[in-house]
Amino acid sequence: MGLLTGAIGALPWPRGRDENRDNARDGAVTVLVDPLRCQGIGMCAHLAPGVIALDEWGFPIVPRGAVTGRERVAAGRAANGCPRRALLLEGRSGG
Ligand code: SF4
Repeated sequence: MGLLTGAIGALPWPRGRDENRDNARDGAVTVLVDPLRCQGIGMCAHLAPGVIALDEWGFPIVPRGAVTGRERVAAGRAANGCPRRALLLEGRSGG
């Protein structure tokens, strides 16, 4: 199963290589959730309020589009703080 954006259970959100390349260029990242790793612990929403929300079962709802600036920083905090390493920031340059 692929990584997801948006609510858990949504269909994978296909993106082209051009969009990924644009994200890397302007520092934007797309937040992806690995549904096989995520256990709905909810730490991510606490670490990135306003960027990641939780659905009624406690699973993350991430932005569908790329995030930049403060939202990117918050998303990075959430990815680093996820105990299951279930969040991936696509387009992140330099690790
Ligand atoms: S912190 Fe990680 S495991 Fe917990 S809900 Fe968020 S993505 Fe899922």
